[in-house]
Amino acid sequence: MSELAISKKVASIPPSATLAVTDKARELKEQGRPVIGFGAGEPDFPTPDYIVEAALKACQDPKNHKYSAGPGLMELREAVAAKTLRDSGYEVDPTNVMITNGGKQAVFTAFAVTLDPGDEVLLPAPYWTTYPAAIQLNDGVPVPVLAGSDQEYKVTVEQLEAARTDKSKVLLLCSPSNPTGAVYTPDELKAIGEWALEHNLWVLTDEIYEHLVYAGTEKAHIVSVVPELAERTIVMNGVSKTYAMTGWRVGWMIAPAGAAKAGRTYQSHLTSNVNNVAQRAALAAVSSDLGAVEQMRVSFDRRRQLMTGMLNDIEGVYLPEPRGAFYCYADVTGLLGREWGGKVANTSADLANIILEEVEVAVVPGEAFGTQGHIRLSYAVSDSDITEGVGRIQQLFA
Ligand code: PLP
Repeated sequence: MSELAISKKVASIPPSATLAVTDKARELKEQGRPVIGFGAGEPDFPTPDYIVEAALKACQDPKNHKYSAGPGLMELREAVAAKTLRDSGYEVDPTNVMITNGGKQAVFTAFAVTLDPGDEVLLPAPYWTTYPAAIQLNDGVPVPVLAGSDQEYKVTVEQLEAARTDKSKVLLLCSPSNPTGAVYTPDELKAIGEWALEHNLWVLTDEIYEHLVYAGTEKAHIVSVVPELAERTIVMNGVSKTYAMTGWRVGWMIAPAGAAKAGRTYQSHLTSNVNNVAQRAALAAVSSDLGAVEQMRVSFDRRRQLMTGMLNDIEGVYLPEPRGAFYCYADVTGLLGREWGGKVANTSADLANIILEEVEVAVVPGEAFGTQGHIRLSYAVSDSDITEGVGRIQQLFA
């Protein structure tokens, strides 16, 4: 008997292009090839000891062996509220905080509680590969608003206004950005925030890379520069990138009362509470100072400078200085149409394949982020991998 058809909605979602590259690189590595991977979206550091110790202790306490409150442990929700005041400069009631299974579930839930079928989401591109999928799975329509390397990958109010229709419901912001490393200045955020307020949009702000900012770049929180937006803003955040805790799966959503309540109901049916041991680990992370984070940030900064310099030395490659997160997003349109090893690179996907096959370096093509003609390289890898891997790319394109 043949299998019955699966839902059209789910079938329409493409698999993650980031994972496709990682899988191909892994396959080559398993064959014993000396592949260098720049695909990873996670810190290469272990989770700091004091966080791991809090988890070990939590394992031994029977109260953590049971179901707990759906929206999260109250101590953790309080700590997230306190940390938001410390880092973002505005006050949040702990009841408006909901703990989620990673930042990803906060993103998904934020779209679930704001979108009705056909509602449009203004989505600055290049964008993180999950946003369009999460929007479509929640019956919304992604409307990409393109910002190229010539504008440091940051959209302007004029571009957003040109893309706005009477169906526009949500504006998505991700600063510092995956994949570009762009960071909006306080003035840029203020202009965008005032525009969003004027047009009654929800602002969904993804702050998962908030602490990874370099070169003295000034940053601000959209609610601290436009306080009236508090009632229309949903924050999506988590411990994954800041504390090298990607595998622990703890994130959070901060929303105004109605959206927070809807989120709690939704989560109560979907996943119930987040793993208690992981929540206790996240509590240790969020309530501590940022000392361990600063050490990792300094390493990322050194690698950022190394990789950016090496990439910009290649003729046909250009990237504006990435100021946050841990990615270089290089414009490679100057390399397209050329041939290497008998293969022509007509697109950045072709180019990424050629780089992998010819010099065994894995990069993610811009197609995954809504902008053909680019490649993304993560610098959350060792300095020696950067020197060797980008060195091989330099040789290939010399
Ligand atoms: N938001 C952005 C922009 C990301 O890059 C990621 C992870 O890659 C996430 C959210 C989700 O993070 P988490 O691992 O906490 O689900």
